[in-house]
Amino acid sequence: MPLKVKSPIGIYGGTFDPVHYGHLRPNLELCEIFALDHVRFIPAFAPPHREAPQTPAEQRLEMVAQAIEAESRFVLDDREIKRGGPSYTLDTLKSLRQDYPDNPLCLLMGMDAFAAIDCWYHWQELLDYAHIIVSQRPETDFHASEQWSTAVQALYEQHQAERKAISQTLCGKIRLEPVTQLSISATDIRNRLKNKQSIRFLMPEPVINLIKYYNLYT
Ligand code: ATP
Repeated sequence: MPLKVKSPIGIYGGTFDPVHYGHLRPNLELCEIFALDHVRFIPAFAPPHREAPQTPAEQRLEMVAQAIEAESRFVLDDREIKRGGPSYTLDTLKSLRQDYPDNPLCLLMGMDAFAAIDCWYHWQELLDYAHIIVSQRPETDFHASEQWSTAVQALYEQHQAERKAISQTLCGKIRLEPVTQLSISATDIRNRLKNKQSIRFLMPEPVINLIKYYNLYT
């Protein structure tokens, strides 16, 4: 344990195909609740547990860059795209731990992602490198935990912690946190574009401009 634990850093992975306000607003709130130094947005190159993203990595990266440009507490991190191959979160956390040996690392994710965490590559090791902060998603609620597998429930029960524990230790805690709920998903946005419906007010305007420029999701 270092003599002085520095400010916690948020780690937020996703396909971001495309990025939307449902990704942005909850993380800003978590940033404030946990006094995070910053949140690193890390687009996956090849997500191991779902179909490959429709949009090339470079364009997803560009969309995230545009989306977070105006918020100094949000930082783009292209390490998974540079690394190539399957984007295992454990590998990402190991490399972040090397870069930030004295900062608590907080893996930020929605309830849906946490419910399936026992399918992630070497999932039992994730908490050796980071805390997990789970934000509530609109279509789920805290009762969703009743549908967690026994393994996920056990993980939560063993590691759940109070807010203050997040800034006091480098890793190993799990915290569920309610945030402003935005019922937005990338799937819905892609469908709207396919159906020639408007996507206005679902994501920052510069991202919409990029989607139009590259003629994505048509
Ligand atoms: P898709 O619809 O293609 O599955 P998505 O909108 O869920 O995409 P992802 O990039 O797959 O976005 O998700 C990355 C992370 O963002 C996950 O942890 C997911 O739980 C979270 N997330 C996505 N949408 C929301 C939302 N509206 N509110 C809170 N968290 C969200």
